[in-house]
Amino acid sequence: MSTPTETKSTCPYCGVGCGVIIESTGAQITGVRGDPDHPANFGRLCTKGSTLHHTATAAVTLQTRLLYPMQRLQRDQAPQRVSWNHALGMATRKFAQVIQEHGPDAVGFYISGQLLTEDYYVFNKLAKGLIGTNNVDTNSRLCMSSAVAGYKSTLGADAPPTCYDDVNHTQCIFIVGSNTAWAHPILFRRIEDAKKANPAMKIIYADPRRTDTAEIADLHLAIQPGTDVMLFNGMLHIMLWEGWTNAAYIAAHTNDFDALKATVRDCTPELVAQICGISKEALHQAAQWFATSKATLSLYCMGLNQSSSGTAKNGALINLHLATAQIGKPGAGPFSLTGQPNAMGGREVGGMANLLSGHRDLANPAHRAEVAALWGVADVPATPGKTAIEMFQAAADGEIKALWIACTNPAQSMPDQATVRRALQRAELVIVQEAFATTATCAYADLLLPATTWGEKTGTVTNSERRISRVRPAVAAPGETRHDWSIAVEFAQQLEAELGRPARLFDYPTPESVWNEHRESTRGRDLDITGLSYAMLDVAPQQWPLREGDAVGKARLYEDGLFPTKDGKAQFANTVYKPVAEPREARYPFSLSTGRLRDQWHGMSRTGTVGRLFGHVAEPSVQMHPQDMARRLLKEGDLVHVTSKRGSIVVPLQASTEVGMSQAFIAMHWGEEFLSGVSANGERLAGVNALTTPTFCPTSKQPELKHAAVKILKA
Ligand code: SF4
Repeated sequence: MSTPTETKSTCPYCGVGCGVIIESTGAQITGVRGDPDHPANFGRLCTKGSTLHHTATAAVTLQTRLLYPMQRLQRDQAPQRVSWNHALGMATRKFAQVIQEHGPDAVGFYISGQLLTEDYYVFNKLAKGLIGTNNVDTNSRLCMSSAVAGYKSTLGADAPPTCYDDVNHTQCIFIVGSNTAWAHPILFRRIEDAKKANPAMKIIYADPRRTDTAEIADLHLAIQPGTDVMLFNGMLHIMLWEGWTNAAYIAAHTNDFDALKATVRDCTPELVAQICGISKEALHQAAQWFATSKATLSLYCMGLNQSSSGTAKNGALINLHLATAQIGKPGAGPFSLTGQPNAMGGREVGGMANLLSGHRDLANPAHRAEVAALWGVADVPATPGKTAIEMFQAAADGEIKALWIACTNPAQSMPDQATVRRALQRAELVIVQEAFATTATCAYADLLLPATTWGEKTGTVTNSERRISRVRPAVAAPGETRHDWSIAVEFAQQLEAELGRPARLFDYPTPESVWNEHRESTRGRDLDITGLSYAMLDVAPQQWPLREGDAVGKARLYEDGLFPTKDGKAQFANTVYKPVAEPREARYPFSLSTGRLRDQWHGMSRTGTVGRLFGHVAEPSVQMHPQDMARRLLKEGDLVHVTSKRGSIVVPLQASTEVGMSQAFIAMHWGEEFLSGVSANGERLAGVNALTTPTFCPTSKQPELKHAAVKILKA
């Protein structure tokens, strides 16, 4: 037997960003193991990562992949195979027609935190530089936009100041709104190791659910859904009362503490205990451990971000770090965990409706001029584009007429499925650029463009700790699939010609040439990587910033107490508590939360192909507290209707003390094959997002996927 070829790459699932070694023989990926040299995982992989090769077998490719361009001539007909020339020609003509008849804002691009940085960069430039619309947003809007807004409004830049190694230096870990044990398993292994090595280290866990992550905690604050801001403000109230804040740090390195002090004055332990549903003693203990430990590290995720108060929740947590000087030293600081493998890369290239390349702001004329000069265009439009929820609402209203969707599945993953599906039906042209033919969104596409995926692509991604890693191909692209960046480049070049634009803005022979332009866009910015190259990344992954002349990137930020703001000081956010957008009430008496399972990923287009990944959880269920079940005469396994104001699904009931009384939980992954439902108007829907609300945080525009009021009745 011949020795398999080994190729170093990166896991395509979560934001831990583990390094993998892909084994392949000829055109077939045959195995995968953890890369012992990769600093994110040092050789470890979780169940999802270690079964990646099973998602790339010849049989899976044949059964699930989109291998050829396809066009649907009539919406009610099956799509037919067409040539790439035909597909891109049709896309170009229709986009040009819509732009010429209705203006550039009549088109929209909805892309993905699973794209590589190079893919992202081209799509962003295509929308903002060539077409002249900021209507380019991404599923990272559902994932990290509250973290972005939280960092920018307090620390001055969208930069997690910490790194994974901080877990080994901390004395107190505050995990909030994150089931790290399941969502970021390899990081959780580090936490377990650190706790074993240092049993005196305290772990505080704040989350409404008693998940597997709670098992490691010294203190679990099972707060009521959406009350995080009140919890953090209450902790600060106690810290002030007890004299645990750091007055010298506050005076030297921050602004506007007085306004926040006035706000938290009212957040008394009694009030906080009552609103959050925890004891005053537990609140006091959490405040003490956080403030008085030598180094406190906060790890947080969707529980803070997917909220109508997402920005305030992020800000209120960062306030605690600033007030106690738990930042800028080993083992201390706020650390947002990215859900997706390259949500960070998308933010770096500005691939969102309100951002610009290199962490620049759309609202800043100087920043727009810098990006326009870099791209060689007259200007970049100033009006913010439509963010994810707004984009689909605009398409449902007939305002956006052509949608280009790449590497994401909004017909399953977006909240309020009824509106999203209406948008996909109403749009005059829906282009879906995808690796998998099995996603729910493919059924709405007029044009399907087959893309390469993990094991076939080359480029870069950035993980949660600002570390850029290379993604490398182990096998050739199957069928007629093409790389995402090159599909966007070819379309852009054709559109330039169709629109009569003389400039050739997309002269990229390789993904490296795209990345080099991205690198130049970071010059002088907080994420400056002008000292980095593909060649250096081939030696080892690196964290940003890594400026010209630097040998390695920066593990931690703000160690000098200087923040990237006008006066170098951080800004306290004056965070006022607001309850969830849709409180439970008599007709809808349960708080429904959504989240991940350990062994599935997103809409299961990849993990759903691996039988053994169903060994952990085999089918969908709604979790309900046993006392709630007893009161309603329900029993384990009963089929129930779970109904919100937007829709209803039928699902088996599971008794669980993971959820509190009056709470329920359904995993986000299950789609049409598993979980059918209907909208309030009787349209066919599927998955938990038939129920979720599109209400979003007014600053970050991230929707409240973590809370909807529902009723649960026997089917
Ligand atoms: Fe992949 Fe995340 Fe698992 Fe690492 S922890 S192997 S990145 S899914």
